[in-house]
Amino acid sequence: EGGGNMAASGGGEPEDLCGPGAGGLALLGLAPGAPSCPHGPALLFVKTSQGKEEGRRFYACSACRDRKDCNFFQWEDEKVSETRLAAREEYNRSHQPSFTHTQNVERYKNFVLLPLSKRRFCQECQQLLLPAEWEKHSTHQFLCNISTAQLRSPSQLLYPLENKKTNAQYLFTDRSCQFLLDLIIDLGFRRVLSVGTPRLHEMIQSKASQEEDFRVRSLLLDIDFRYSQFYTEDEFCHYNMFNHYFFGGEVARETCRKFLYQDNGERVIMVTDPPFGGLVAALASSFKKLMAMWKETEKEGHKNQEMPMFWIFPYFFESRVLEFFPAFSMMDYQVDYDNHALYKHGKTGRRQSPVRIFTNLTPSMIVLPVEEGYRFCATCQRYVSSGNQHCELCNSCTSKDGRRWKHCVLCKKCVKPSWFHCNNCNCCALQNHACEKTDAGCFVCGKAGHKRSTCPSLSHT
Ligand code: SAH
Ligand code: ZN
Ligand code: ZN
Ligand code: ZN
Ligand code: ZN
Repeated sequence: EGGGNMAASGGGEPEDLCGPGAGGLALLGLAPGAPSCPHGPALLFVKTSQGKEEGRRFYACSACRDRKDCNFFQWEDEKVSETRLAAREEYNRSHQPSFTHTQNVERYKNFVLLPLSKRRFCQECQQLLLPAEWEKHSTHQFLCNISTAQLRSPSQLLYPLENKKTNAQYLFTDRSCQFLLDLIIDLGFRRVLSVGTPRLHEMIQSKASQEEDFRVRSLLLDIDFRYSQFYTEDEFCHYNMFNHYFFGGEVARETCRKFLYQDNGERVIMVTDPPFGGLVAALASSFKKLMAMWKETEKEGHKNQEMPMFWIFPYFFESRVLEFFPAFSMMDYQVDYDNHALYKHGKTGRRQSPVRIFTNLTPSMIVLPVEEGYRFCATCQRYVSSGNQHCELCNSCTSKDGRRWKHCVLCKKCVKPSWFHCNNCNCCALQNHACEKTDAGCFVCGKAGHKRSTCPSLSHT
């Protein structure tokens, strides 16, 4: 039984990646001695059917859910020959970026010395070009006259990555980013560990370079190596948050540790906005390791504390997040994005962002903007959406999506406004839902159309 030592298995429950019931993949986690692909140690998975583990376990890339992006695959019990191991190592080496971070820092220094007219950015290679390289990129599209302002906002210069399901980059709107930064400042934080939040990082860096009395600092951890062109080794670490892998090895890990260690680890907060692809257990495992890194570095005090954290994630993952971080609460604030049409802020309809802030800070400290309709609920001791009514029966402001929810006395909880109580299913659901489990047939007689509780072959005395 390998389950016990899997760091990411979080209680041993495999995570069904395709929803309950359906055949899918379950994540077992980061196993000791796991083989590596170009994205660091691979994760262990197993095929599932009806929630049960079935068949051989295998390793696959932690970062890429699409085989086209990384096709690493190995059976757990597979014998790999020396030749293949050597070939794999060579492959991993050759799939690292063409310039190292140090080289990119050097290139940047030279780039900013150039007059504006010689500052070019190749859009095809997503790379700042030095004059000697123009020739090689002559057939590529490029931008000219790259200004200092543009260099301060790399997330505007680079195109957002769109590798399908899991690794798409969704950038904060200026409003959401500013809100987060103001909140961080108002809470008294001085350092931000920005994990997969390049836009927040760049807002902080940009202010730090322009405003003398701006005291906040940020370290960006992200898998998008393009950012190494704009930030030094003290500002950016190439990092994989699904397996807690620092591509820059011990030196980069030490950079992160030092960053957390400043001021005895005080006034630092971690902010993360991971891809929503599903590997919650893997993310939680990495975040716990980052928290542990912070805890290790503490000299004294805050012994029983956790590193403060904002985990930005959709509300429908609430139960998953709380499974791994039971002390976290979900805030009502709707985080919205520039390049995601569905996730734009709005007062009505479906256009509301499902993305929220999960935090281990005391909810009453998270002040949400009243001018955007949030209000303080004295009973719940937290800010809630304007539409989120306090339910006397639940004794809580129960809405998750910002709309007013209604209480169902039979379910003994509040439900979405569009739901109705279904006597067949014994719970609330959409009016035109397909009744639960009726397709699969009744547990007692096997016939379709009803469940065990209403089976006609049972005598109800
Ligand atoms: N809203 C954020 C961006 C979130 S998009 C902002 O505006 O700053 C998700 C981010 O996570 C992207 O920057 C992406 O490059 C990064 N990311 C995706 N997969 C990752 C991985 N495996 N490890 C680390 N970072 C990753
Ligand atoms: Zn090019
Ligand atoms: Zn209720
Ligand atoms: Zn109900
Ligand atoms: Zn039903």
